[in-house]
Amino acid sequence: MDAQAIYMYQNSPNDNGPRGTQRPNSSGNSNGNGGNGGGGNSMSILVRTILVVVVVLLGWYFFQYFFQGGSSSSSNPNALEVPYSTFYQQVQQSNVQKVVFQGQDITGQFKTAITVPNPNGSGTQTGVDFHLTQLPNGDPTLNALILKNVPDFETKPVQDNNLIWTILLNVVPWLLIIGVFFFIARRATQSQQNIFSFGKSRAKLVLEDRPSTTFADVAGVDEAKGDLVEVVEFLKTPQKFQRLGGKIPRGVLLVGPPGTGKTLLARAVAGEASVPFFSMSGSEFVEVLVGVGASRVRDLFDQAKKASPSIIFIDEIDAVGRQRGSSINSNDEREQTLTQLLVEMVGFDARQAVVVIAATNRPDGLDKALLRPGRFDRRVTVDRPDWNGRLAILKIHSRNVPLGRDVDLITIARGTPGMVGADLANLVNEAALLAARRNLDAVTQSCFDEALDKILIGAERPLILSDDDLNVIAYHEGGHALTGLLTEGVDPVTKVTIVPRGQALGVTMYTPLDDRYNYSRDYLEAQMVTALGGRAAEQVAIGHITTGAENDLQRVTAIARQMVTRWGMSDRLGTISYSEREDPFAGTSLATGSREYSERTAAVIDEEVNRLVKVAYDKAVSLLTEHKATLDAIAKTLRLHETVDARQLREIMVETGSIEAAPASYR
Ligand code: ADP
Ligand code: ZN
Repeated sequence: MDAQAIYMYQNSPNDNGPRGTQRPNSSGNSNGNGGNGGGGNSMSILVRTILVVVVVLLGWYFFQYFFQGGSSSSSNPNALEVPYSTFYQQVQQSNVQKVVFQGQDITGQFKTAITVPNPNGSGTQTGVDFHLTQLPNGDPTLNALILKNVPDFETKPVQDNNLIWTILLNVVPWLLIIGVFFFIARRATQSQQNIFSFGKSRAKLVLEDRPSTTFADVAGVDEAKGDLVEVVEFLKTPQKFQRLGGKIPRGVLLVGPPGTGKTLLARAVAGEASVPFFSMSGSEFVEVLVGVGASRVRDLFDQAKKASPSIIFIDEIDAVGRQRGSSINSNDEREQTLTQLLVEMVGFDARQAVVVIAATNRPDGLDKALLRPGRFDRRVTVDRPDWNGRLAILKIHSRNVPLGRDVDLITIARGTPGMVGADLANLVNEAALLAARRNLDAVTQSCFDEALDKILIGAERPLILSDDDLNVIAYHEGGHALTGLLTEGVDPVTKVTIVPRGQALGVTMYTPLDDRYNYSRDYLEAQMVTALGGRAAEQVAIGHITTGAENDLQRVTAIARQMVTRWGMSDRLGTISYSEREDPFAGTSLATGSREYSERTAAVIDEEVNRLVKVAYDKAVSLLTEHKATLDAIAKTLRLHETVDARQLREIMVETGSIEAAPASYR
């Protein structure tokens, strides 16, 4: 019973093999790819096969040793081993009752027992049964003598199959052993060199896989799912798309932290469209020596094209697709592989319905060529789930796990901010294992609690944010959002979240109203106010400030400096450009170019920058102090829901009475 709980869980219809239960660390784990990547799996099958062969061979040999050993000294192991001379004597003395000739084997019985020395020289043996150790090589007198003196005399035919059997027993095992050694040797050399196989055989490493995963197996990433629906449609009826001249999806880049379900999503797309799924990991391409990576890419695409419509999934594409020439020891192999990948993607025939899905958690360093139209021109973000998402994921993974009555998945979902799908799958599995170890009929809440402790202690990175941290983050993001809502002329806030994204612990998202080519002074000042709204909120609500605003401060300083030096927006310095060029919103480090002004001017610039930032900060603080009740309510709602959208924000502002201050653009 206890084992059943685990068994059922692991057999859950996610068809993602053993991987579903283990945390895929950002990299290096590509070989454990379970069902999809051929490599790891076929290797373990190989090892198992070799083991079986070796065991069978050993058994065979032992069997043969004893069996043959027995038969060669006649069926009777107690038979005396007598030399030919003794036998001849006994026949002469008429003491032989029976002789059986079988080929060159001679056995028989004496009438009365005789005693002969042991063949090994120590002691003697006595008995009636005998076996000849020496063969009677054409003794012409023997036949007559036997006919005369031996009453029972028999010649058995030599058994032919016995001979064949002997040959088989002796030759086949060696053939097998040699074969296995060759196989191993080939496998070993395959990753080293490319002499024997010109790529083609390698393609078999990528197994055709038809996942049964569907979108129902993926939760908490609804936006990503929505983006991928079109790909499914295309793969289902490519003709329809092609006939209507619709833009065919070619390459989709899934971007998100490890364990958020990128691989799962790609498999679900294949499952939904019921097309074959070919997958390989970027690191697998580059692990091998020169020339192989590129040929692997070619094989992969050839295979997928033959099976079209189909999906190619490339995990960890950053391993291949890093910007060319960006590292000091540039890797030719990687560049060749990347070039081949680009060639293949561009070279698709319009009739070939093959969609390439790639995954990465580091999209920034990707080679620009990969992102051009016709390549990975669609980007789908796979974010960490908020608590509703986490609840849905927990439900999926506990589908086949008997849960105790006291288990409250909602509480678990709420208590695991920051965790991704893989973490949650792991949590359910650990809890089920604990229940099994305790011989329980169902997984109880205490199993979950203990499993969570165990996972958190064992984790390399903090998986869960502390309550205090979450509080600070909620106020910080709430501050950005509220100052944004209260300030005229800034881009409207669309969504605030305290679910970590990439490096950020929380995010406030704005939609630019339209493309801006000119920034007005008001706009820039308002930008600074909202950018400082996070830090200001920490100050207003919590009373002390944290390091979480580093990026905000860089951005604000960059804007202020540009206003002063580039756009002539400082009254004190006047409309003079002090030619420092940089992207005002990138928050990059300050200009490194040569300066064209004096130390004194530089000091004035610094003062002006400081003043602009201070004015903006004070404005943010006073706004938030005035609307403290609203700020509190937003922070509280954020803690509760983790994500708050524009509509909810507006409702909060109405409830707390600061709606009048909402900008007109917001209504
Ligand atoms: P990634 O490719 O983003 O690193 P995976 O797709 O390999 O993540 O996720 C690993 C496992 O974690 C999945 O097989 C699945 O069991 C679980 N998992 C991850 N994300 C989700 C999700 N959004 N919904 C359900 N299960 C998930
Ligand atoms: Zn911030």
